[in-house]
Amino acid sequence: MALVNEHFLKLSNNYLFADIAKKVNAFKVSHPKTQVISLGIGDVTQPLCPAVIEAMHKSVDEMASKQTFHGYGPEHGYDFLREEILKNDFLPRGIHLDINEIFVNDGAKSDTGNIQEIVRWDNSVGVTDPIYPVYIDSNVMIGRAGEMQNGKWSNVTYFPCTAENNFIPQLPDHRVDMIYLCYPNNPTGTVLPKEELRKWVNFALHNDAIIFYDAAYESYIQDDLIPHSIYEIKGARKCAIEFHSYSKTAGFTGVRCGYTVIPKELTAATLDGKERIPLNHLWERRQSTKFNGTSYISQRAAAAIYTPSGKQQTRETINYYMGNANIMMESLTRMGFQVYGGKNAPYLWVKTPNGEDSWKFFEQLLYGVGVVCTPGVGFGPSGEGYFRLTAFGERENCQEAMHRIAEWYK
Ligand SMILES: *Cc1c(COP(=O)(O)O)cnc(C)c1O
Repeated sequence: MALVNEHFLKLSNNYLFADIAKKVNAFKVSHPKTQVISLGIGDVTQPLCPAVIEAMHKSVDEMASKQTFHGYGPEHGYDFLREEILKNDFLPRGIHLDINEIFVNDGAKSDTGNIQEIVRWDNSVGVTDPIYPVYIDSNVMIGRAGEMQNGKWSNVTYFPCTAENNFIPQLPDHRVDMIYLCYPNNPTGTVLPKEELRKWVNFALHNDAIIFYDAAYESYIQDDLIPHSIYEIKGARKCAIEFHSYSKTAGFTGVRCGYTVIPKELTAATLDGKERIPLNHLWERRQSTKFNGTSYISQRAAAAIYTPSGKQQTRETINYYMGNANIMMESLTRMGFQVYGGKNAPYLWVKTPNGEDSWKFFEQLLYGVGVVCTPGVGFGPSGEGYFRLTAFGERENCQEAMHRIAEWYK
């Protein structure tokens, strides 16, 4: 008799975006005349830039002739892209990586979810709270997270990030084997200064732990002092895996491309402690079995981001989104909201007025002004009492939403 993996059944209480959609639809039915504005979306809205489109057209044409057709590519990605990554994303920051430390992927979600396969199922896990749900859910599926008790997983250590600690997670007072960090952060939009990140690297080195560092929003950093890569910290190559994505950088949510860095110095012990295994090799082995590479067209598209025109055009789009963030931040602050994030990330993390709970405020905002936010508690227990706004919308929608909230709020 084939039995199901019952760990999956534990996940069934996770319905955040479906719950939001249901409530928004109910509102639309009862308020057909209201133009609903969504500031809750996590997807980008601006099209791919011309440099990327041109590269895609060209590679599609290559596929049309026998001489230039591309079938299966290398599982770890084409060198034309890996070389651009080394040259543009790391060398200018003084980080020297080997080309074989770069694994091109079909987006950061797959790799942040799959990476946990190459370490033992009974390692302990630590996450910042609130959090991008993939890190926990992928560990639940394999049985590593334990059971859900009072809103928390029994085998997961939560590092709360709230206004009280300025969204700086505190090191745990006990061992944690696997640590997930995401900076700039989704959902809070906050960043970690170098000296704080250094504490985590040192903790991982001392405890023989691994840090899974999600840098999906790295290109939104405006402040020169904030690290773009964990490898800017000494010793990180021995303890950290880093994930990058072109989704938010260049609007690749529908194209699918990113990359993962696994330095060769990064090793983990066998159970008997007698051997240290390089994780770079394990991941390469895993990928060559379960992954057949990102499409040639997507990789050509990604390489075009690194051309002079590609760089300039992607920067313009990022500036557009950050302009939205600025408008929302200024308006909400003027209205008296406590607003966090939004300076080095396309997310604003806002305290609900009068300590209302996240879902109650979500409904008030929807029924009061027809604006959709994301309730903070949907990202973890420490998100209660906050809501998230994204800067990925259209400028005029942002402005209109702020105008409506200001009228309603005074
Ligand atoms: C959007 C996002 C990603 C990127 O996912 P893709 O699969 O590359 O589209 C990764 N991590 C976080 C935290 C995100 O918000």
